[in-house]
Amino acid sequence: MIVVLKPNLPPEQVEKVIAEVAKLGYEPRPIHGIVQTVIAAIGDETTHQSLETLETWPQVEHVHRVQKRYKLVSREAKKGMDSVLKIHGQEIGAGKKFCFMAGPCSVESEEQLMTTAKAVKAQGATFLRGGAFKPRTSPYEFQGLAKEGLQLLAQAAKEYDLGIVTEVLSERDVELVASYADILQIGTRNAQNFSLITEAARSGKPILLKRGMTMKIEEWLLAAEYVLAHGNPNVMFCERGIRTFETYTRNTLDLGAVAIIKKESHLPVIIDPSQGCGRADMVLEMCKAAVALNADGILIEVHPNPAEAWSDGQQQVDFNLYAKLVEELKPFVTAVGRPL
Ligand code: PEP
Ligand code: MN
Repeated sequence: MIVVLKPNLPPEQVEKVIAEVAKLGYEPRPIHGIVQTVIAAIGDETTHQSLETLETWPQVEHVHRVQKRYKLVSREAKKGMDSVLKIHGQEIGAGKKFCFMAGPCSVESEEQLMTTAKAVKAQGATFLRGGAFKPRTSPYEFQGLAKEGLQLLAQAAKEYDLGIVTEVLSERDVELVASYADILQIGTRNAQNFSLITEAARSGKPILLKRGMTMKIEEWLLAAEYVLAHGNPNVMFCERGIRTFETYTRNTLDLGAVAIIKKESHLPVIIDPSQGCGRADMVLEMCKAAVALNADGILIEVHPNPAEAWSDGQQQVDFNLYAKLVEELKPFVTAVGRPL
Protein backbone atom coordinates (compact mmCIF):
# COMPACT_ATOMS: atom_id res chain seq x y z
CA MET A 1 0.00 0.00 0.00
CA ILE A 2 1.10 3.55 -0.62
CA VAL A 3 -0.04 6.19 1.85
CA VAL A 4 0.26 9.74 0.54
CA LEU A 5 0.18 12.37 3.27
CA LYS A 6 -1.16 15.91 3.04
CA PRO A 7 1.36 18.64 2.08
CA ASN A 8 3.46 20.45 4.70
CA LEU A 9 2.53 18.28 7.67
CA PRO A 10 4.44 18.87 10.91
CA PRO A 11 6.87 15.97 11.59
CA GLU A 12 4.93 14.79 14.68
CA GLN A 13 1.81 14.32 12.52
CA VAL A 14 3.83 12.35 9.99
CA GLU A 15 5.12 10.16 12.85
CA LYS A 16 1.55 9.45 13.99
CA VAL A 17 0.64 7.99 10.61
CA ILE A 18 3.87 5.99 10.43
CA ALA A 19 3.11 4.53 13.86
CA GLU A 20 -0.44 3.58 12.80
CA VAL A 21 0.83 1.88 9.65
CA ALA A 22 3.18 -0.20 11.80
CA LYS A 23 0.40 -0.95 14.30
CA LEU A 24 -1.76 -2.31 11.46
CA GLY A 25 0.94 -4.84 10.64
CA TYR A 26 2.83 -3.20 7.78
CA GLU A 27 6.46 -2.17 7.66
CA PRO A 28 6.42 1.61 7.03
CA ARG A 29 9.08 3.03 4.70
CA PRO A 30 8.59 6.79 4.59
CA ILE A 31 9.89 8.83 1.68
CA HIS A 32 10.15 12.47 2.73
CA GLY A 33 9.67 14.88 -0.15
CA ILE A 34 10.06 18.64 0.00
CA VAL A 35 6.33 19.21 0.27
CA GLN A 36 4.82 15.82 1.03
CA THR A 37 5.69 12.51 2.66
CA VAL A 38 4.75 9.22 1.03
CA ILE A 39 4.77 6.04 3.12
CA ALA A 40 5.38 2.77 1.33
CA ALA A 41 3.67 0.18 3.55
CA ILE A 42 5.24 -3.23 3.02
CA GLY A 43 2.99 -6.21 3.67
CA ASP A 44 0.54 -8.60 2.04
CA GLU A 45 -2.55 -6.53 1.30
CA THR A 46 -4.71 -9.59 0.90
CA THR A 47 -4.02 -10.91 4.40
CA HIS A 48 -3.46 -7.69 6.34
CA GLN A 49 -6.12 -5.29 7.37
CA SER A 50 -6.58 -2.76 4.60
CA LEU A 51 -4.97 0.63 5.09
CA GLU A 52 -7.59 2.29 2.91
CA THR A 53 -9.52 3.40 5.99
CA LEU A 54 -6.58 5.68 6.81
CA GLU A 55 -8.12 8.04 4.25
CA THR A 56 -10.44 9.08 7.07
CA TRP A 57 -7.43 10.57 8.92
CA PRO A 58 -6.95 14.32 8.43
CA GLN A 59 -3.22 13.80 7.78
CA VAL A 60 -3.82 11.44 4.83
CA GLU A 61 -4.51 12.51 1.27
CA HIS A 62 -4.74 9.13 -0.51
CA VAL A 63 -4.13 5.44 0.04
CA HIS A 64 -3.28 3.39 -3.06
CA ARG A 65 -3.39 -0.35 -3.38
CA VAL A 66 -0.44 -2.00 -5.07
CA GLN A 67 -1.65 -5.59 -5.16
CA LYS A 68 -4.78 -6.67 -7.01
CA ARG A 69 -7.72 -7.83 -4.95
CA TYR A 70 -8.01 -11.13 -6.79
CA LYS A 71 -5.37 -13.86 -6.73
CA LEU A 72 -6.56 -17.22 -7.98
CA VAL A 73 -8.19 -15.94 -11.17
CA SER A 74 -5.18 -13.83 -12.11
CA ARG A 75 -2.72 -14.83 -14.82
CA GLU A 76 0.11 -14.85 -12.28
CA ALA A 77 -1.63 -17.65 -10.38
CA LYS A 78 -1.04 -19.91 -13.38
CA LYS A 79 2.35 -18.49 -14.26
CA GLY A 80 0.99 -17.10 -17.53
CA MET A 81 -0.59 -20.36 -18.70
CA ASP A 82 -4.24 -20.51 -19.76
CA SER A 83 -6.63 -22.86 -18.00
CA VAL A 84 -8.33 -25.59 -19.97
CA LEU A 85 -11.69 -26.75 -18.69
CA LYS A 86 -12.56 -30.36 -19.52
CA ILE A 87 -16.33 -30.68 -19.72
CA HIS A 88 -18.45 -33.36 -21.39
CA GLY A 89 -15.46 -34.64 -23.36
CA GLN A 90 -14.60 -31.14 -24.60
CA GLU A 91 -11.69 -28.88 -23.79
CA ILE A 92 -12.49 -25.19 -23.41
CA GLY A 93 -9.79 -22.50 -23.25
CA ALA A 94 -6.12 -22.03 -24.14
CA GLY A 95 -6.66 -21.91 -27.89
CA LYS A 96 -8.42 -25.28 -27.97
CA LYS A 97 -11.40 -25.98 -30.23
CA PHE A 98 -13.74 -22.99 -30.48
CA CYS A 99 -16.79 -23.92 -28.43
CA PHE A 100 -20.32 -23.53 -29.76
CA MET A 101 -23.03 -23.44 -27.09
CA ALA A 102 -26.43 -23.01 -28.66
CA GLY A 103 -30.11 -23.48 -27.98
CA PRO A 104 -33.25 -21.63 -27.02
CA CYS A 105 -33.51 -18.88 -24.47
CA SER A 106 -36.17 -20.91 -22.65
CA VAL A 107 -36.98 -24.57 -22.85
CA GLU A 108 -40.62 -24.49 -23.99
CA SER A 109 -41.61 -27.97 -25.16
CA GLU A 110 -40.23 -31.34 -26.15
CA GLU A 111 -40.64 -30.61 -29.84
CA GLN A 112 -39.03 -27.17 -29.62
CA LEU A 113 -36.03 -28.47 -27.72
CA MET A 114 -35.50 -31.70 -29.66
CA THR A 115 -35.63 -29.97 -33.04
CA THR A 116 -33.28 -27.25 -31.82
CA ALA A 117 -30.82 -29.74 -30.34
CA LYS A 118 -30.81 -31.64 -33.64
CA ALA A 119 -30.26 -28.45 -35.66
CA VAL A 120 -27.40 -27.10 -33.55
CA LYS A 121 -25.73 -30.50 -33.28
CA ALA A 122 -25.81 -30.77 -37.09
CA GLN A 123 -23.78 -27.53 -37.17
CA GLY A 124 -21.17 -28.77 -34.70
CA ALA A 125 -22.43 -27.36 -31.41
CA THR A 126 -21.10 -29.30 -28.43
CA PHE A 127 -23.30 -27.77 -25.73
CA LEU A 128 -27.04 -27.25 -25.65
CA ARG A 129 -28.11 -24.10 -23.85
CA GLY A 130 -31.63 -23.65 -22.59
CA GLY A 131 -33.23 -21.99 -19.59
CA ALA A 132 -35.44 -24.04 -17.31
CA PHE A 133 -35.44 -21.38 -14.59
CA LYS A 134 -35.87 -17.97 -16.19
CA PRO A 135 -35.07 -14.65 -14.52
CA ARG A 136 -37.87 -12.48 -15.93
CA THR A 137 -38.29 -8.80 -15.22
CA SER A 138 -42.05 -9.19 -14.85
CA PRO A 139 -43.60 -11.83 -12.61
CA TYR A 140 -46.34 -12.28 -15.24
CA GLU A 141 -43.93 -13.47 -17.93
CA PHE A 142 -42.99 -17.08 -18.56
CA GLN A 143 -40.79 -18.24 -15.68
CA GLY A 144 -39.50 -21.48 -17.20
CA LEU A 145 -40.57 -25.11 -16.98
CA ALA A 146 -38.32 -25.76 -13.96
CA LYS A 147 -37.75 -29.49 -13.37
CA GLU A 148 -39.68 -30.47 -16.49
CA GLY A 149 -37.36 -28.20 -18.48
CA LEU A 150 -34.32 -29.88 -16.97
CA GLN A 151 -35.72 -33.29 -17.89
CA LEU A 152 -36.25 -32.16 -21.47
CA LEU A 153 -32.68 -30.85 -21.57
CA ALA A 154 -31.45 -34.23 -20.33
CA GLN A 155 -33.49 -36.03 -23.01
CA ALA A 156 -32.24 -33.81 -25.84
CA ALA A 157 -28.65 -33.85 -24.62
CA LYS A 158 -28.69 -37.64 -24.45
CA GLU A 159 -30.26 -38.04 -27.87
CA TYR A 160 -27.76 -35.73 -29.56
CA ASP A 161 -24.74 -36.19 -27.29
CA LEU A 162 -24.54 -32.58 -26.16
CA GLY A 163 -23.44 -31.08 -22.85
CA ILE A 164 -26.03 -29.00 -20.99
CA VAL A 165 -25.64 -25.33 -20.03
CA THR A 166 -28.51 -24.03 -17.95
CA GLU A 167 -29.09 -21.27 -15.45
CA VAL A 168 -29.46 -21.75 -11.73
CA LEU A 169 -31.42 -18.89 -10.25
CA SER A 170 -31.46 -19.70 -6.59
CA GLU A 171 -29.41 -21.46 -3.93
CA ARG A 172 -32.47 -23.61 -3.29
CA ASP A 173 -32.16 -25.15 -6.76
CA VAL A 174 -28.40 -25.70 -7.00
CA GLU A 175 -28.57 -29.40 -6.15
CA LEU A 176 -31.41 -30.05 -8.58
CA VAL A 177 -29.92 -28.07 -11.48
CA ALA A 178 -26.45 -29.52 -10.86
CA SER A 179 -27.88 -33.03 -11.12
CA TYR A 180 -28.79 -32.29 -14.79
CA ALA A 181 -26.34 -29.63 -15.97
CA ASP A 182 -22.79 -29.98 -17.23
CA ILE A 183 -22.32 -26.23 -16.78
CA LEU A 184 -24.20 -24.07 -14.31
CA GLN A 185 -24.99 -20.65 -15.72
CA ILE A 186 -25.00 -17.79 -13.23
CA GLY A 187 -27.02 -15.05 -14.89
CA THR A 188 -26.37 -11.35 -15.08
CA ARG A 189 -28.89 -10.60 -12.36
CA ASN A 190 -27.11 -12.94 -9.95
CA ALA A 191 -23.52 -12.19 -10.89
CA GLN A 192 -22.85 -10.73 -7.44
CA ASN A 193 -25.12 -13.03 -5.46
CA PHE A 194 -22.21 -14.43 -3.51
CA SER A 195 -24.21 -16.98 -1.54
CA LEU A 196 -25.58 -18.44 -4.80
CA ILE A 197 -22.13 -18.35 -6.44
CA THR A 198 -20.61 -20.07 -3.41
CA GLU A 199 -23.26 -22.78 -3.37
CA ALA A 200 -22.89 -23.30 -7.12
CA ALA A 201 -19.11 -23.52 -6.70
CA ARG A 202 -19.51 -26.14 -3.98
CA SER A 203 -21.57 -28.33 -6.30
CA GLY A 204 -18.30 -28.98 -8.13
CA LYS A 205 -19.92 -28.29 -11.51
CA PRO A 206 -18.22 -25.91 -13.96
CA ILE A 207 -19.66 -22.41 -13.78
CA LEU A 208 -20.41 -20.03 -16.64
CA LEU A 209 -20.36 -16.66 -14.92
CA LYS A 210 -22.20 -14.00 -16.87
CA ARG A 211 -21.14 -10.44 -16.33
CA GLY A 212 -23.54 -8.42 -14.23
CA MET A 213 -25.14 -5.77 -16.44
CA THR A 214 -23.75 -3.00 -14.23
CA MET A 215 -20.63 -4.77 -13.09
CA LYS A 216 -17.13 -3.39 -13.34
CA ILE A 217 -14.46 -5.72 -14.69
CA GLU A 218 -12.74 -5.92 -11.30
CA GLU A 219 -16.03 -6.92 -9.67
CA TRP A 220 -16.52 -9.61 -12.29
CA LEU A 221 -13.04 -10.99 -11.66
CA LEU A 222 -13.74 -10.98 -7.93
CA ALA A 223 -17.04 -12.83 -8.43
CA ALA A 224 -15.09 -15.54 -10.28
CA GLU A 225 -12.54 -15.48 -7.45
CA TYR A 226 -15.37 -16.64 -5.15
CA VAL A 227 -15.72 -19.82 -7.22
CA LEU A 228 -12.00 -20.58 -7.12
CA ALA A 229 -11.73 -19.62 -3.46
CA HIS A 230 -14.35 -22.28 -2.74
CA GLY A 231 -12.24 -24.96 -4.34
CA ASN A 232 -13.83 -25.08 -7.78
CA PRO A 233 -11.29 -24.27 -10.53
CA ASN A 234 -13.78 -24.61 -13.39
CA VAL A 235 -15.19 -21.22 -14.17
CA MET A 236 -15.55 -19.32 -17.41
CA PHE A 237 -16.44 -15.71 -17.92
CA CYS A 238 -19.34 -14.85 -20.20
CA GLU A 239 -19.58 -11.31 -21.55
CA ARG A 240 -23.25 -10.61 -22.28
CA GLY A 241 -23.34 -6.86 -22.53
CA ILE A 242 -23.71 -4.08 -20.04
CA ARG A 243 -26.33 -1.42 -19.63
CA THR A 244 -25.47 1.89 -21.26
CA PHE A 245 -27.32 4.90 -22.65
CA GLU A 246 -27.58 3.25 -26.09
CA THR A 247 -31.03 2.22 -27.27
CA TYR A 248 -30.33 0.65 -30.68
CA THR A 249 -29.10 -2.44 -28.87
CA ARG A 250 -30.58 -4.13 -25.78
CA ASN A 251 -27.17 -4.05 -24.08
CA THR A 252 -23.73 -2.87 -25.11
CA LEU A 253 -21.57 -5.92 -25.75
CA ASP A 254 -18.33 -4.84 -24.11
CA LEU A 255 -15.65 -6.33 -26.32
CA GLY A 256 -12.96 -4.31 -24.57
CA ALA A 257 -13.78 -6.18 -21.39
CA VAL A 258 -13.08 -9.46 -23.18
CA ALA A 259 -9.60 -8.25 -24.11
CA ILE A 260 -8.98 -7.17 -20.53
CA ILE A 261 -10.20 -10.43 -19.00
CA LYS A 262 -7.91 -12.28 -21.40
CA LYS A 263 -4.97 -10.19 -20.18
CA GLU A 264 -5.88 -10.43 -16.49
CA SER A 265 -7.04 -14.01 -16.16
CA HIS A 266 -6.12 -17.53 -17.23
CA LEU A 267 -9.77 -18.60 -17.36
CA PRO A 268 -11.77 -19.10 -20.59
CA VAL A 269 -14.05 -16.38 -21.94
CA ILE A 270 -17.32 -16.99 -23.76
CA ILE A 271 -19.27 -14.31 -25.61
CA ASP A 272 -23.06 -14.14 -25.61
CA PRO A 273 -24.01 -11.93 -28.56
CA SER A 274 -27.72 -12.73 -28.13
CA GLN A 275 -28.24 -10.98 -24.79
CA GLY A 276 -25.30 -8.75 -25.78
CA CYS A 277 -27.16 -6.94 -28.56
CA GLY A 278 -30.72 -8.22 -28.26
CA ARG A 279 -30.93 -8.40 -32.06
CA ALA A 280 -30.77 -11.49 -34.23
CA ASP A 281 -29.39 -9.43 -37.12
CA MET A 282 -26.21 -8.61 -35.18
CA VAL A 283 -25.29 -12.03 -33.87
CA LEU A 284 -22.98 -12.98 -36.75
CA GLU A 285 -20.92 -9.78 -36.60
CA MET A 286 -20.48 -10.13 -32.86
CA CYS A 287 -19.43 -13.76 -33.26
CA LYS A 288 -16.74 -12.72 -35.72
CA ALA A 289 -15.51 -10.18 -33.18
CA ALA A 290 -15.53 -12.87 -30.50
CA VAL A 291 -13.27 -15.08 -32.60
CA ALA A 292 -10.92 -12.20 -33.39
CA LEU A 293 -10.65 -11.40 -29.69
CA ASN A 294 -9.50 -14.93 -28.96
CA ALA A 295 -12.66 -15.75 -27.03
CA ASP A 296 -12.99 -19.46 -26.33
CA GLY A 297 -16.55 -19.87 -27.46
CA ILE A 298 -19.97 -18.38 -28.02
CA LEU A 299 -23.35 -18.86 -26.41
CA ILE A 300 -26.11 -18.28 -28.94
CA GLU A 301 -29.87 -18.34 -28.64
CA VAL A 302 -31.45 -20.49 -31.35
CA HIS A 303 -35.18 -21.15 -31.75
CA PRO A 304 -37.25 -23.02 -34.38
CA ASN A 305 -39.51 -19.98 -34.76
CA PRO A 306 -38.20 -16.91 -32.93
CA ALA A 307 -41.38 -14.95 -33.62
CA GLU A 308 -43.24 -17.38 -31.38
CA ALA A 309 -40.61 -17.70 -28.66
CA TRP A 310 -41.80 -17.40 -25.05
CA SER A 311 -38.81 -15.21 -24.17
CA ASP A 312 -36.23 -13.11 -26.03
CA GLY A 313 -37.74 -13.76 -29.49
CA GLN A 314 -36.17 -10.71 -31.11
CA GLN A 315 -32.62 -11.91 -30.44
CA GLN A 316 -32.94 -15.62 -31.24
CA VAL A 317 -31.78 -16.90 -34.60
CA ASP A 318 -33.69 -19.57 -36.50
CA PHE A 319 -32.11 -22.77 -37.82
CA ASN A 320 -31.32 -21.32 -41.25
CA LEU A 321 -29.65 -18.26 -39.85
CA TYR A 322 -27.76 -20.38 -37.33
CA ALA A 323 -26.44 -22.66 -40.08
CA LYS A 324 -25.42 -19.66 -42.21
CA LEU A 325 -23.77 -18.05 -39.21
CA VAL A 326 -21.68 -21.12 -38.40
CA GLU A 327 -20.62 -21.50 -42.05
CA GLU A 328 -19.57 -17.84 -42.26
CA LEU A 329 -17.74 -18.05 -38.97
CA LYS A 330 -15.65 -21.09 -39.82
CA PRO A 331 -12.98 -19.26 -41.89
CA PHE A 332 -12.56 -16.78 -39.04
CA VAL A 333 -12.00 -19.57 -36.54
CA THR A 334 -9.48 -21.20 -38.86
CA ALA A 335 -7.78 -17.84 -39.43
CA VAL A 336 -7.01 -17.45 -35.73
CA GLY A 337 -5.49 -20.93 -35.72
CA ARG A 338 -8.16 -22.71 -33.75
CA PRO A 339 -9.46 -26.16 -34.56
CA LEU A 340 -13.19 -26.36 -35.28
C1 PEP B 1 -30.15 -16.06 -20.87
O1 PEP B 1 -29.04 -16.57 -21.16
O2 PEP B 1 -31.21 -16.36 -21.43
C2 PEP B 1 -30.17 -15.01 -19.83
C3 PEP B 1 -31.27 -14.73 -19.17
O3 PEP B 1 -28.97 -14.42 -19.67
P1 PEP B 1 -28.52 -13.10 -18.87
O4 PEP B 1 -28.44 -13.51 -17.44
O5 PEP B 1 -27.21 -12.76 -19.49
O6 PEP B 1 -29.57 -12.05 -19.12
MN1 MN C 1 -32.37 -15.12 -23.16
